[in-house]
Amino acid sequence: MNYAHRIDGKKRVHLKEYDPEERRGLTKEEAQEKTAELARELNELDDLLFAAGQQSMLIILQGRDTSGKDGAIRHLLNIVNVQSCRVVPFKVPTPIELAHDFLWRIHAETPPRGAMHIFNRSHYEDVLVVRVHNLVPEAVWRKRYDHINAFERLLVDSGTILLKFYLHISKEEQEKRLLEREKETEKAWKLSVGDWKERELWDRYTEAYEEALTRCSSPEIPWHIAPANNKWFRDLAITEQVVEALRPYRKPWMEHLSKIGETAKRELMEYRAQRTGA
Ligand code: ADP
Repeated sequence: MNYAHRIDGKKRVHLKEYDPEERRGLTKEEAQEKTAELARELNELDDLLFAAGQQSMLIILQGRDTSGKDGAIRHLLNIVNVQSCRVVPFKVPTPIELAHDFLWRIHAETPPRGAMHIFNRSHYEDVLVVRVHNLVPEAVWRKRYDHINAFERLLVDSGTILLKFYLHISKEEQEKRLLEREKETEKAWKLSVGDWKERELWDRYTEAYEEALTRCSSPEIPWHIAPANNKWFRDLAITEQVVEALRPYRKPWMEHLSKIGETAKRELMEYRAQRTGA
């Protein structure tokens, strides 16, 4: 049983059925110990992803304000190879982005083989904030679920290992975190009236998230709901999924690398033989 909940799209998601406070009986220290062990494995797997250069990895992080997207990114960046990892934040689209289809700016940022990209927000904003604020007519955003599914299928068929996380916090936890930002000087830079305004639309966001999580999940390309009231549990849930997604490739990547190594050694021996012969 995994720490994050895997959504396969077979039944409608109701977020109230998932406990944001979940800790599976673990203390913070126990969870951190498990995370550290998984992190060691992730570090190795990430090196192989980079060296083998056969697949890419895309991690999509979505969640309400203060749900911990930045914290989860900080955690992952402490583990992976910075050379092959890139974080891509998606903000309000620019005029040139708005003059294209909604996936244009997203596709341009997908990872090439050997790389890991982490999306801080994503194309899902186009069925979340856009829907909640009526930024385009319903007839336009409604079609986007199919567009998203086709797009993600294309990425996966082209060798992308795709993981999508919804960081699940409660309304009470969000209030606590927003108030902390006011109290703590080093967190105050994150303060925004917008966050309080968005909070008033909590139920409309819930509706939008539930539909996106339901309609854009399949057994092959699932969403994962990561309980996120406890930051240490969120990190454990995410690290575990990333490791599990990469683990099946360990053997083929090592085989591929050992073949490359053999060829390189043979070429070197031939080169040396030629030099001595000459
Ligand atoms: P953070 O992700 O840390 O909250 P910002 O405060 O800059 O960063 O928020 C980015 C904002 O951009 C969010 O309010 C988000 O809803 C908005 N945004 C992202 N994508 C879109 C989009 N496609 N259309 C409209 N707004 C978007």
